[in-house]
Amino acid sequence: MLLTAETQDLQEQLSTLSSFIGNTPLFPITRAYSKPGVKIYAKLEWQQLGGSVKARPAFRIIQDAVKSGQLQPGQSLLDASSGNTAIAYAAIGAAIQIPVTICLPENASEERKTLLKAFGANIVYTSRFGSTDEAQEIAKQLYSDYPDRYFYADQYGNQSNWQAHYHTTANEIFRQTKGEITHFVAGLGTTGTFTGTSRKLKELNPEIELISLQPDAAMHGLEGWKHLETARVPKIYDATIANQNLAIDTYEAFDLIQKVAQKEGLLISPSAAANLAGAIKVADSIEEGVIVTVFPDNAEKYAEVLKSLF
Ligand code: PMP
Repeated sequence: MLLTAETQDLQEQLSTLSSFIGNTPLFPITRAYSKPGVKIYAKLEWQQLGGSVKARPAFRIIQDAVKSGQLQPGQSLLDASSGNTAIAYAAIGAAIQIPVTICLPENASEERKTLLKAFGANIVYTSRFGSTDEAQEIAKQLYSDYPDRYFYADQYGNQSNWQAHYHTTANEIFRQTKGEITHFVAGLGTTGTFTGTSRKLKELNPEIELISLQPDAAMHGLEGWKHLETARVPKIYDATIANQNLAIDTYEAFDLIQKVAQKEGLLISPSAAANLAGAIKVADSIEEGVIVTVFPDNAEKYAEVLKSLF
């Protein structure tokens, strides 16, 4: 493909940005939970552009689309997201001057709306009590009405989403644990984190146990869990990967937010707490091992949750 000067320029800007994506620290959990013979580590995924794990897939989706010509200079990136992916697109979009349009359920938290506006994203509100599924439908419709205007990023169906984790997160974890990881634990949203990281880890060492998490029904609808709440199975999900699927008690997870703040000095989000609850369940069930999970974001965007806890 012959690249225009504008596309080349975009690719150069993306390559400069790439050093602010991924390469997150691996934090040892030692006081919020401890058991002789077992170690738990968490990737601090908020230490990237846009403040969450979603920097990785958002960046790769954009980079792959620019490379393949699907995202042309002058077009706007379009997707549905109730949270972190939208913020990641908006931050990266601002950094490389690509306009970003997000279909967002109107009941998304004020913090999220403010962050998106701060990064200059264009927000299309979907219905007041709408789900992420409905926001996806609206994004698809908008794309089919104006295919020339938009690049539809489709995080739930875009292979670049899981590939981001396959090419970055998994290798980082393997290197940071010096190959000693025995278990990988992660919650499912679009499923990109679990699917991509797991696929690569399995190639690096087929013995690694892969555990996916779902929150129980009790707290669905509460801010902080919405990303895990899609009625549909994402297109990129592969049910054959997990060795185990665990349900997480969301009340237990909420207790962990407090414990981790006061014993580890980290203010983690509800989904990070759910991942830690999963890692602890696994730790309780084994005698020896190195368990790795991810903390997708910190608690700064969850004012309601923090107020109810502290
Ligand atoms: N936790 C948070 C806070 C998230 O924003 C997301 C993704 N939307 C997830 C967990 C789940 O990650 P994934 O989409 O890769 O399954």
